Amino acid sequence: MEKHAGFMKALKCRECGREYPLIANHVCDFDFGPLEVVYDYERIKHTLTRAAIQTRPKSMWRFRELLPVAGDPTVGLEVGCTPLIKADRLARRLGIRELWVKNDTVNYPTLSFKDRVVSVALSRARELGFTIVACASTGNLANSVAANAAAASLKAYVFIPADLEQSKVLNSLIYGATVVGIKGHYDEVNRLCAEIAGKYPWAFVNVNMRPYYAEGSKSMGFEIVEQLGWRIPPHTVVCMASGSLLTKIHKSYQEAIKMELAPEVHYRVHGAQATGCSPISTAQKAGLDFFKPVKPNTIAKSLAIGTPADGFYALKVMKETNGCADDVTDDEIREGIKLLAECEGIFAETAGGVTVGVAKKLIASGSIPADDAAVLCITGNGLKTLDAVAGHAGYTREIKPSLREFENLLEAETRSPSRA
Ligand SMILES: *Cc1c(COP(=O)(O)O)cnc(C)c1O
Repeated sequence: MEKHAGFMKALKCRECGREYPLIANHVCDFDFGPLEVVYDYERIKHTLTRAAIQTRPKSMWRFRELLPVAGDPTVGLEVGCTPLIKADRLARRLGIRELWVKNDTVNYPTLSFKDRVVSVALSRARELGFTIVACASTGNLANSVAANAAAASLKAYVFIPADLEQSKVLNSLIYGATVVGIKGHYDEVNRLCAEIAGKYPWAFVNVNMRPYYAEGSKSMGFEIVEQLGWRIPPHTVVCMASGSLLTKIHKSYQEAIKMELAPEVHYRVHGAQATGCSPISTAQKAGLDFFKPVKPNTIAKSLAIGTPADGFYALKVMKETNGCADDVTDDEIREGIKLLAECEGIFAETAGGVTVGVAKKLIASGSIPADDAAVLCITGNGLKTLDAVAGHAGYTREIKPSLREFENLLEAETRSPSRA
């Protein structure tokens, strides 16, 4: 065991249970299973109480004992504690009694849930002595690595598919990161990054640092539990790219129960994908334990991973919690974005449209009962995927700067308000 490991005990293979030292390593030498951080829960129980948490600053680090850094975090100290909104208007539209939106469109500093995982990965990378960080990304991760690395004086290389949304590309370049666009889809980017990570002594947040990185997602679940008054919601709907966030929401609920922060209840975790890249939801609907890789073709580029690294475990979580999965078309994604915007004043990116669209389907089919309560995890900001809704969001009424023209317009609008 490392001398200064904080509350961490080891890295442990999810398949065979072999333990490894707490270094930058993500795969078991024996069966190639993924490594996961294990904690000293007995010790954590003494300090991580509801009362203690409530006195701490409003950031994801109020749950620091269950986040994998040895000392005090040094990157992303302001991340997290995003609003949990009671979405009554959206609830009525979707036909459910109680609905909440966990709004990570306003996460700090780069407007997506990825700020959570990056804050953990870069804090840990610094502890391990790295000065160069990198990632394979569908966009939001690149933005967050670039921004947080800049603020932490770390050099950043970010690798993305070359055909990403312009806004996601610019939102990485602006921070001075070296942005490498790969002519290929995400799975090819990821494969190249695995090769580079084997050759260069860099902290690849979602390759060799993945066990630490992935734990950051738990903070979204912890915050939901605290914001609901220390209870676990009966239904949580999560969109899936690699499937990691979904598995970590489940892990956060398990840990909240284990640490006696929330009473043990039966809860279900549901997964959402885009029809144009739905390896996990397709397998879930067919009742399979394994997914079949696909070639992505969807406007939800942030979720476009055809070979999801945690797909197998996401399927397992849905099976264990009796959760469901479904997927939605590009038109349904846009409709989901509009619905959330018009009902709640929240502009989500395409991934949010996926979550809303799938929630709507699951409620309509009775998979989420109408008299129950659900939380939707909204993970990214619509200002980064404007192209996806351009031409689908209504139109501007153009007039000359005259009161008369305006009043003519007003009259026409009252006569036929449906033109929007
Ligand atoms: C990365 C991402 C996700 C989910 O990622 P996982 O790989 O499944 O953890 C969801 N929404 C947005 C906006 C993302 O960028």
